[in-house]
Amino acid sequence: MAVLSRSVAPFRRSCCVGSIRRFCSGADSKLAAALRTGKPVEGRNVQWVFLGCPGVGKGTYAARLSNLLGVPHISTGDLVRQELSTPGPLSSQLAEIVKQGKLITDEIIIDLLSKRLEAGESKGETGFILDGFPRTIRQAEILEGVTDIDLVINLKLREEALIAKCLGRRMCSECGGNYNVACIDIKGKHGSPGMYMPPLLPPPHCESKLIMRADDTEDVVKERLRIYNELSLPVEEFYRSRGKLLEFDLPGGIPESWPKLLQALSLVDHEDDKKSAAA
Ligand SMILES: [Zn+2]
Repeated sequence: MAVLSRSVAPFRRSCCVGSIRRFCSGADSKLAAALRTGKPVEGRNVQWVFLGCPGVGKGTYAARLSNLLGVPHISTGDLVRQELSTPGPLSSQLAEIVKQGKLITDEIIIDLLSKRLEAGESKGETGFILDGFPRTIRQAEILEGVTDIDLVINLKLREEALIAKCLGRRMCSECGGNYNVACIDIKGKHGSPGMYMPPLLPPPHCESKLIMRADDTEDVVKERLRIYNELSLPVEEFYRSRGKLLEFDLPGGIPESWPKLLQALSLVDHEDDKKSAAA
């Protein structure tokens, strides 16, 4: 686990980071408090949620933060996959839903999540980062009754970059490795900054075995984004009105975005410091 310490920078300073957009409301002071306090509630670690549309990379940032903060990264996608691989009544029910192409109900997701949180608590876990949940306003409301969420980080990426990233996804048909052939290079204009995200190219032995998901076409990707936005805007509003929503516009790839995200969260990654000192 990476060594963690909170920087002394108060929220006022970190909120000057250009990539953070804050919404003016009475909720701001609550958000400021949530960001200032490393352990929001005595005796436990952070209980955070990551929001962001498909392809934004929230799994990557959630995993990094969970590693840094020493809390589990709980992805509801993983919970469903795990349950499917464990024989039992719920597993067969889930398999049937997936087979019929139906959406897994809020009840099942909440049930899986509650079980995971309880199991974690009994093992001594004192916090979590949720990824992929809540997806709907109803799930957000139910989650309120299950546990306290301190902070919701809403990751955003410019739509043109997001679509290019989704269309650039490739998987190796042999080893299952995930790559991205899109090289995003948006020139800055009219005062808006440019954006560069290098491709994540496969090693030579995977190059000839790359496949694309059949549903990664521009129309399908745009439709996926539209559905995501329709469902998630009320979820964002739900947390914004409670002073828990932190909007974060990704300025580019991981090397650029990670330090800025830490800064926005008033976190310091000493592993990164060591790496840059050694470089
Ligand atoms: Zn491969």
